[in-house]
Amino acid sequence: MDTPQVRLKKTRDRSLRRRHPWLYSGAIDKVEGDPEMGGIVRVVDDRGAFLAWGYFNPLSKIQVRILDWQESSLIDEEWWRCRLRRSLDMRRKLPSLRSANACRLVYSEADGLPGLIVDKYLDYIVVQVLSAGVERVRALLFELLRELTSPEGIYERSDVEIRELEGLSPLSGPASGDVPPVVEIREGQNRFCVDIKKGHKTGFYLDQRANRDIVSEYAADREVLDLFSYTGAFAIAALRAGAKRVTLVESSSQALDVARQNFDINGIAPDRAEFINGNAFDVVREYRDSGRRFGMLICDPPKFAHSKVQLPKAERAYKDINLMAMKLLEPDGMLATFSCSGAMGIEEFSKIVAWASIDASREIQVLQRLSQAHDHPINPCFPESEYLKGLICRAP
Ligand code: SAH
Repeated sequence: MDTPQVRLKKTRDRSLRRRHPWLYSGAIDKVEGDPEMGGIVRVVDDRGAFLAWGYFNPLSKIQVRILDWQESSLIDEEWWRCRLRRSLDMRRKLPSLRSANACRLVYSEADGLPGLIVDKYLDYIVVQVLSAGVERVRALLFELLRELTSPEGIYERSDVEIRELEGLSPLSGPASGDVPPVVEIREGQNRFCVDIKKGHKTGFYLDQRANRDIVSEYAADREVLDLFSYTGAFAIAALRAGAKRVTLVESSSQALDVARQNFDINGIAPDRAEFINGNAFDVVREYRDSGRRFGMLICDPPKFAHSKVQLPKAERAYKDINLMAMKLLEPDGMLATFSCSGAMGIEEFSKIVAWASIDASREIQVLQRLSQAHDHPINPCFPESEYLKGLICRAP
């Protein structure tokens, strides 16, 4: 029983030779054998030379996701165990995680496990299964996660639309043990409530952990506007670092309810914060018109571009919100602005911020460029893994 084989068209082996782990249907000449949905295939070039092992999904535009580049590798239970262990070991040794008890344990392609996200909140594990290949071995992976992390409970949050691109339906629920409705995590001195079952993503924006520390260093004695605040993590970090007051703007009332809880468990007096449940694009216009100004703005919007096709529209949205943000800055104000659209690079984002500054008639200086936390590593052969970017700007 030979492993099914995917043979590429002539010259279509280039991206694989550069170790990009996605193989699009257009590059495939023929599929030899009868691979199962999510099953392992051997990828070869037009002359039959081995390129990689991957898993196959005829329903996805990305028909093969590469798992291993070594011909001698065997993708068996021990292989999965080694890959998971490698990811867990990396996090155990990360200096930046010493003062946190929540982190990303597995970050998909960047950890050599395409389509698998595993986050840890204290002793609870939250999993997202995002590809047919992972779906096929889900039982084994859950078993291995139990073996390697001995969690109190595992919860699945595969309730995301991108599963549909793989021909899978959204799914969420307990996988083993008990997971409480709210888990209280720690990032340095700050504590945050995480709603694992209903919160965004797997419950929390772990990717911004390091940036919260960096950004809050500029917050002392300033009045801060936290746009797209979610559960207030940036706002709380800013107050702890000496911000005078914060205003949180967030469209989800559930997220703001958790934000209020977060202020409470951090012992912050409620009069140091204002919670605005609304559309950030409208709120900034109201403030512009009423003359309200801030010493610091944090702007961390949701992903406006889910793919390259959506970039032009997304660029307009990023420019608009940044332009408005700059208009609200007092002299010598600070703006920490982010984009989590993987389709947009840092250079492009910088350009948008530059255009916004011209239209806002505010000169700006970029003091720092920011990226995602270290437990969300970047695979340089897979630029898509670098999605979060930020700029700390000063407006004289
Ligand atoms: N800074 C947050 C994460 C922000 S994610 C943190 O560190 O935890 C983006 C947030 O923007 C989400 O909570 C989403 O609900 C909210 N959001 C999306 N569109 C919005 C809009 N138009 N106005 C206000 N909030 C919005």
